[in-house]
This record gives sequence, structure tokens and C-alpha cells, in this order.
Amino acid sequence: MVGRGQGVPENLQDLPVTPTWDRPAPELAQGPRPNAAGMDLAALRTLVASLGESPFRAAQLHQGLYQHRWTAWEQFSNLSKPLRARLQAEVALAWPELVESVHSEDGSTKHAFRMADGSLVEGVHMPYENRTTLCLSSQVGCAMGCTFCATGLMGIKRNLTAGEIAGQVVTMLNAHRHQAPAPVNIVFMGMGEPLHNLDHVMAAFALMTDPKGLAIPPWRITLSTSGLVSGIQRLGAYAKRPRLALSLNATTDGYRSSIMPVNKVWNLEALAAALKAFPLESNERITLEYVLLKGVTDSLDDGRRLAAFAQKFPSKINLIPFNPHEGSGFEPPTEGRITELCGLLAGRNLTVSVRRSRGQDVAGACGQLVREGRKAT
Ligand code: SAH
Ligand code: SF4
Repeated sequence: MVGRGQGVPENLQDLPVTPTWDRPAPELAQGPRPNAAGMDLAALRTLVASLGESPFRAAQLHQGLYQHRWTAWEQFSNLSKPLRARLQAEVALAWPELVESVHSEDGSTKHAFRMADGSLVEGVHMPYENRTTLCLSSQVGCAMGCTFCATGLMGIKRNLTAGEIAGQVVTMLNAHRHQAPAPVNIVFMGMGEPLHNLDHVMAAFALMTDPKGLAIPPWRITLSTSGLVSGIQRLGAYAKRPRLALSLNATTDGYRSSIMPVNKVWNLEALAAALKAFPLESNERITLEYVLLKGVTDSLDDGRRLAAFAQKFPSKINLIPFNPHEGSGFEPPTEGRITELCGLLAGRNLTVSVRRSRGQDVAGACGQLVREGRKAT
């Protein structure tokens, strides 16, 4: 196993995209005006002080931004008109902007968001009878280079800021005001590797869970990772954190390394050790996501090895039939094989579900809308 911070191993260089998770992703260049969208209460206090306004204005701004989810200064009816005019001139209020929304037959909507610098990322709104799930991006592109993933084939452009991450929630809830049954669940399963952008993801987590703001319960937020062990360890040290999902996707080091370069740095053994050591709440389980690639990762032997891996710690398994996209070279499994694998896992007393990719008819898997949109332009 190669240690962290020693650079990308040489045998990873011939992949379509060279993985670069061993170094920090670039950050958003700051614009000329501060952007209030995404500031927490402390930052709003500093902003208000810099404008020479009374400190209590910060709480009013916070309420407008996160409870009312206002998108323009003129909506801030809790502020005086002169202050609104001043904010209009001196402070930006820029939430992620919707540039394309594609509705799927199953009720979900895939959104492309444009950020202040023109970067595009994706989010998905999935309404169910008794809840709404929002899928968020954490980065523009991804540095991990997984060969089956449309985002992985783009490489990394930059980290999203906390405001850009929580802003996807604000923009989607505003766009679906009348079809967003509570409660809201959040999954970091859009573009990017959240553990490669942990500081901003945790700042976004704080914004999303603030009881005086968006007020989403922490346990309704799930962070999905490809297996950056250093990041798993850092996440485990937080007192308040999202739930953890691990994209296992293969059951031997040979196959996993060939589709997920990160496995060459932290292999299955290192991963299992990190997951075993991850401090869980009493009823908490780690979700194991497993993308089924026909003829690559969907054998019955894979099913048996997946079961053995899952039995090492409290877990539940989510099988994800591969969502095809152009140029990937992979195929989805047969329905018969999905059923067989479900039976095999359930027969070993494991909790197993199949994720029917919502929005499959509209390029459902992460990165596909932005990639397909790009090709069209
Ligand atoms: N980077 C994180 C989170 C974003 S990817 C991670 O890898 O976990 C979210 C999930 O989508 C992962 O489980 C990934 O394996 C899966 N995925 C990526 N491309 C897919 C595709 N074409 N079909 C099905 N699942 C895919
Ligand atoms: Fe990045 Fe996740 Fe896609 Fe891998 S599967 S390239 S980690 S977004």
C-alpha cells in the first residue's frame, strides 16, 4: 500500500483521466463583492459590522437566507429599505442558478446549476410519497478517475464552496416548492468526491443542519465516498457528522483497482479496517454501494465476497445497476442476475436494496447531464 501524500503512483498515469486526489483541488476565485449566500451567522456578523450596521441584523439576514430561502435583496422585508438598497449595491446574493432541468417519467428532476464563475454541476430532486431526497454535488468534476463514471472522465476543475453546496438545496427546494414532501434527505452522490473537499462539505453540513436555518436533521444527510481512507478517518473524528456510504463496487483488489484507482492506494483490507474503526451510533449502519457492471463485478462469487465484506461491520447494501453512458464500455447486469444477487445477500441475513436509478431516461447517473450538455454545445 502506498502512503498518503506520495504522489500519484506511476501505473495510474495511463488512465483516461490522471487521478489527482493526492493534492488539494483548486478553490473558487473570489469575486469583487462578498456573496451573502452561503455565509454562516459568524460571517454575517462580520459582514454587518463591516457595513457599520447593528449586530442584530446578522440574525435577520440569516433568517431570510435559510428559513425563507430568499433569492433577492428586495425580498428581505425584515430589513429597512435603505439597508436593502445598500446591500443591493455592495453585497452579492448569488445562489446556484438553474440553467437546465430535465424531468423524468418517475417524478425526479435532474438539474444543471451554474455557479458564479460559470462552472456547471448537477443535482437531482427526487420526491417520494412521504419524503424528498436531494442529491448534491461537492466538486466541479472529480479527481478520483473511476473508469465507469461520467464525472470521473471529466477530471477535477475545483472544489465547491459551502455556500455552493448548501445553495443547491436552497435552489432545488425553491424550484419544487409545491412538490417537496417533508422530511428532506440529502445524499452527496452527485459530482465529486466529498472527502476530497471535506472542509467545505462539513461547513455546508453545518449550514444545512442549523436548526435556525434549513434545519435538516444530521442523520438525514449521507456522504458517499469512493474510499479515501484518510478522509474516512477525519470524518469519524467529528462529533456531528453525516452518515457514511462507501462505494465498494468490486470485491477483489485486482478488479477494484482497475475501475477505481484509489484502491491502489487504499486497498480492500485498508478500507475494511477503516470502516471497522469508524465510530458508529448505536443504530447506525454504513451503506455499501455496489455498482453492478455486467461481466466485471456481478458474478455470484462477487456476491459471496461482498457478503463477507459487509459482515465485518454494521452495514446495509445498496446494489446499483450500472447506468450506461456513451464511451464507458460497461454494460448493466441482467435482471436475473440482480435477483440472484439479492437472494444470495438476503440469504446471509444482510439488508439489501436495489437502487433503480431515478431519472435513467434523462441521463440519471452523476455527471451525465453536464457531460451530455457539454457535447451538445
Ligand atoms: N464520489 C462519491 C460520490 C459521488 S458518486 C462516490 O464515488 O461514492 C455516487 C455513486 O454513483 C457512487 O456509488 C458511484 O459508484 C455511482 N456511480 C457513478 N457512475 C455510475 C453509473 N454510470 N451507473 C451507476 N452508478 C454510478
Ligand atoms: Fe468521483 Fe465518485 Fe465518480 Fe469515482 S464514482 S469518479 S469518486 S464521482
